Amino acid sequence: MAEQKKILLVDFDDTICQSVFLKKVNDFLGTDYKIEQFKEYLIDSIVPEDRRKEFFASFFETDPYEKLPLIDGAKEALKKLSKKYDIYVCSSCVMLNSPKSSARLFSSKYEYLIKNLPFLDPKKFIFTSSKQLVKGDVIIDDYFSNLKGDIEQKFLFDSYHNKEKTEEELKARGVRRVKSWQEVCDILLNE
Ligand SMILES: [Mg+2]
Repeated sequence: MAEQKKILLVDFDDTICQSVFLKKVNDFLGTDYKIEQFKEYLIDSIVPEDRRKEFFASFFETDPYEKLPLIDGAKEALKKLSKKYDIYVCSSCVMLNSPKSSARLFSSKYEYLIKNLPFLDPKKFIFTSSKQLVKGDVIIDDYFSNLKGDIEQKFLFDSYHNKEKTEEELKARGVRRVKSWQEVCDILLNE
């Protein structure tokens, strides 16, 4: 009998694909901000208060993820990893300030994955805001709060908003920082 593959849970935003908020904020404000200029998770907080409503309306006018690039190396890495791991993409799709419009995010992320990572099994896409209920053997996520609980290997995917998390904080939760998809492969395929 074939050996059962380990379950690898992979986050979507800022782990598989680049920041949708950076793109949308730049489109909306006509700016050219780079991701390195942000430290806080909520990039849209740069939009002036009195234009927020207009910003969120424009966010959903077109497919938000349509032209968004993948994070460097994600496709090649996930393809290699899929030979050894059972990959589940686990992503939150409900925006707290726009729950009614968020239906669009479910279809947008689904279509993005089908188009950009066609080798992944769509039956293994988990769209939920209750990530803590999803269990696996390995998890990769850029959001530190999502890395908890009884999971064998937890990886924090390096991102603009998590750079200030210290080694001590990571260690206390059994989390290891990874700086690229290449590093993920080096660890999970070789160690
Ligand atoms: Mg994320």
